[in-house]
Amino acid sequence: MKKIVLLGPPGCGKGTQSKILVDKFSFFQLSTGDLLREQTMNKNSPYGKEINEIMQRGDLVTDEIVINLIINKVLSFKDENIIFDGFPRNINQAEVLDQSLRESSIDLDHAILFEVDFKILEERIQNRIAESVDDKRSDDNLETLLKRIEVYKKNTLPIVDFYKKKKILKTINGMESIENVNKEILKIIS
Ligand code: AMP
Repeated sequence: MKKIVLLGPPGCGKGTQSKILVDKFSFFQLSTGDLLREQTMNKNSPYGKEINEIMQRGDLVTDEIVINLIINKVLSFKDENIIFDGFPRNINQAEVLDQSLRESSIDLDHAILFEVDFKILEERIQNRIAESVDDKRSDDNLETLLKRIEVYKKNTLPIVDFYKKKKILKTINGMESIENVNKEILKIIS
């Protein structure tokens, strides 16, 4: 069973590609963004309000909360194909994931980096925001998205070296069409 991390900035298409892998290739998607959004909607969650404020700002939710949410899931789905979408997002999270997988004798197969041209990505995000009126996420506004890109550059990009050293880093061109990106991913994982 495969365990794959998708690394890339907001708006690069990670979520879309995860969905294709779930729908067509029996992957189980573990998205910390989705798990956190569930918490913000759960009135009994002790952290719901705090998480919501952090997400609206575009900052990272504290490692303690995120790691608690995801590690139990990882262990309960350890016999499935898992795609990690939006986790890890900093070196500490990468190390914790590595360690908890190791404790269960599981290896990550690939960390797939979506390489992007940040200028074009920002233009795309601006267009997407201008076009979408209804079903957009509440953290999908320009200010928050640009902040999330900065947070990605500062906190998440350093993980690339971590996975390079482990020799599991694969790079794809995230500016290609959905179909082509998907083909590249399938080449890597099959
Ligand atoms: P996403 O749905 O992956 O785009 O994430 C939306 C927001 O949730 C991010 O901007 C962060 O505020 C928070 N978030 C998601 N995943 C993580 C993570 N692994 N660590 C910290 N914060 C996260």
